[in-house]
Amino acid sequence: MVIMTASTTFQPVLERIAEEIERTPGRGRPADYIPALAARDPRRFGMAVAEPDGTVYGVGDWREPFSAQSLTKVFTLALDLAREGDALWEHVGREPSGNPFNSLVQLEYENGIPRNPFINAGALVVTDRLHTRTGDASGELLAFLRAESGNPDLSFDEEVAASEAAHGDRNAALGHFMASYGNIDNPVPVLLDEYFRQCSITASCADLALATTFLARHGVRADGTRLLTRSQAKQINAIMLTCGTYDAAGDFAYRVGLPGKSGVGGGIIAVVPGRCALCVWSPGLDERGNSVAGMAALDRFTTLTGLSVF
Ligand code: GLU
Repeated sequence: MVIMTASTTFQPVLERIAEEIERTPGRGRPADYIPALAARDPRRFGMAVAEPDGTVYGVGDWREPFSAQSLTKVFTLALDLAREGDALWEHVGREPSGNPFNSLVQLEYENGIPRNPFINAGALVVTDRLHTRTGDASGELLAFLRAESGNPDLSFDEEVAASEAAHGDRNAALGHFMASYGNIDNPVPVLLDEYFRQCSITASCADLALATTFLARHGVRADGTRLLTRSQAKQINAIMLTCGTYDAAGDFAYRVGLPGKSGVGGGIIAVVPGRCALCVWSPGLDERGNSVAGMAALDRFTTLTGLSVF
């Protein structure tokens, strides 16, 4: 058992986890409903830990860019919450959905108000509201990620965005359905274009761990300015814990015990408030859409280090 103290670096524990993952058979399958994602090799694995001062540790493919997909929902939420505050919660809830991330059924019972900002319907609402406020939701998001990661080369992957748009009937249905309840301001095609571009952002574990450190710093950005109040940072961490890993959030809390958010590109970000932010990537997914090796690695990280919110 490697219990972390304040002065221990994370490198030895990352190397131990990578060795264990390497020996573990069974990696799940890459998402194939977005054809451009299907070709990734499920044996790829990378993991990074970033400390609040910007020190970053990594192992495996931790500098390899991958499709961030729903990891971006955390940052879009933070950017919108910073601007509009609690008014956002009149348009999207904060409860786990218990349904698949792209489900339509609950929306009708609940009058077009999505359960939370991390299912697709909720993310569409948040993107719509950020777009209304800024005129460029995806540009705001990209600028934020570049600044927090210190990587000016982060960009959209137009091939992935186009692939998703071509297979985006379900997201289009969600957008139109919520528009029928008056919960979307922008024309739905404009909103979908913004949403798909956000999802297509390509970044590495190092970039995304660094970009997530504002939550470990309780809302303070890399340049020392405050994006969120301490209370808002807590709120986002809480929603990640309860809603961040699709309909497996209970299992994630049980195994990992950290605020986390997964994406169908195989990435998972997680936060140890006050201590560090993590990003792990391996493209093979389980049946609920979470990276198999990513879940296992985070499970081992909190077990070996004793760093969890519980
Ligand atoms: N772009 C994906 C979709 O909307 C994101 C899904 C995800 O990563 O959860 O289907």
